[in-house]
Amino acid sequence: MENVNASKSTWSDIFKGSKGTKYSVEDKTVNSSQSSQDSISSSSGSDVKNYRPGGSSMWSKNPKRQCPFYKKMPGTAFAVDAFSYGDVPGITSYFLTHFHADHYGGLTKKFANPIYCSKITANLVKKRLNVPAEYVHALSMRQEHIIDGIKVIFLEANHCPGSVLILFTLPDGRKYLHTGDFRAHPRMELYPNLQNCTIDKLYLDTTYCDPKYDFPMQDDVIQFAVNIAVKAVRENDRTLIICGTYTIGKERVYTAISDALDCKICVLSDKKRVLECLDDSNLMDKIVVGEKSARLHVVSMGKLNPRRLLIYLEELQKIFDNIVAFKPTGWTHNSKVNSLADLKPAIMGRVKIYGNEHSSYSELKRFVQFVHSNGPNVKILPTVNVGNPQQRAFMETHFEKWLSESTSKMTARVKFPQPRKQTPTKRSSQSTQGTSLMQFLKKK
Ligand SMILES: [Zn+2]
Repeated sequence: MENVNASKSTWSDIFKGSKGTKYSVEDKTVNSSQSSQDSISSSSGSDVKNYRPGGSSMWSKNPKRQCPFYKKMPGTAFAVDAFSYGDVPGITSYFLTHFHADHYGGLTKKFANPIYCSKITANLVKKRLNVPAEYVHALSMRQEHIIDGIKVIFLEANHCPGSVLILFTLPDGRKYLHTGDFRAHPRMELYPNLQNCTIDKLYLDTTYCDPKYDFPMQDDVIQFAVNIAVKAVRENDRTLIICGTYTIGKERVYTAISDALDCKICVLSDKKRVLECLDDSNLMDKIVVGEKSARLHVVSMGKLNPRRLLIYLEELQKIFDNIVAFKPTGWTHNSKVNSLADLKPAIMGRVKIYGNEHSSYSELKRFVQFVHSNGPNVKILPTVNVGNPQQRAFMETHFEKWLSESTSKMTARVKFPQPRKQTPTKRSSQSTQGTSLMQFLKKK
């Protein structure tokens, strides 16, 4: 299969700001407890571990493990995010939804089967994992590709650069939508490929399929971080802003801060090599290596502990005398967080922000109801937190509730008008009872 160039718009264009605008500089959500000008030497507290709430990671390097059924697409020779099971019997094509270790785990330079993924993910797979280019097929976004007689379309998943939802259409017309990891957004309901699309099976990222996980909108969280950074710099011009990241992910947080402060982003050369894979020239224009005087530094999450931050500050004391460090948390959740006002820094000088890249409970529910409105017989297959029967049963009850709510909404939309109440004379009651629907409508 030939490699196809990715379409023009970059990953960040699709979900940048709620109306496609850049984040503005406002102070209204910041109060004195949300940013700190105190020295980080007063910091205390422990780092937060990342985990999938209530469930264990489903990947392992043990190739003897059996590939779970929800990773194999029925009626095809396709598997999705299934690289830690060796050669899976009956599978000839391997799809990778995005470049996060719990999805590509097991993929090495020795892999010798066709892999299909987005252009950005393909860049990362080749450059970071040294998988031979002959096996890595980059598919363009929002276009139909035929693989083994099956139509495949990639759509933006709003999770990390290069992440995709995959829509499969089988020769008999059955359709499967695999969400990979995604953060559902109402804009997805406008994807032309999902309009009037009858999905038969929905493979769903159920990381936060629990009503207790209802966190702020992504755009609000990013605006919150921007506000803190701008306020800190206004109050003390010798403030260094630091943002923690993983290999990829959290780009939207630090690019928004960089836009608001109109500053360069200092990274290590290895991080620059990762960012080069994202094919985002606007981002690369801002990236500098080794320019410590840049106002914004992006570092690995592991460096965001008080001791290391203090050493970092001491090395740069000629330029900066204060640090505000953002630690965007991914899978970590504090169930007490209900609004942005609750997102206070846990320790002085470091600000934990809740920059989640998975769907909240209500976003998930809305997306499922949207899919159900087009495909009333859709079967939902959770792909996260599925190891525990109790959790599976818990999710099932929520799916049933969502679908029955969605069915009643649809029924309400097609409900026939009720006859107006009339004086219960003998004649009128007879005429209504004996009137067909068409006659009734004509009378009205
Ligand atoms: Zn992910």
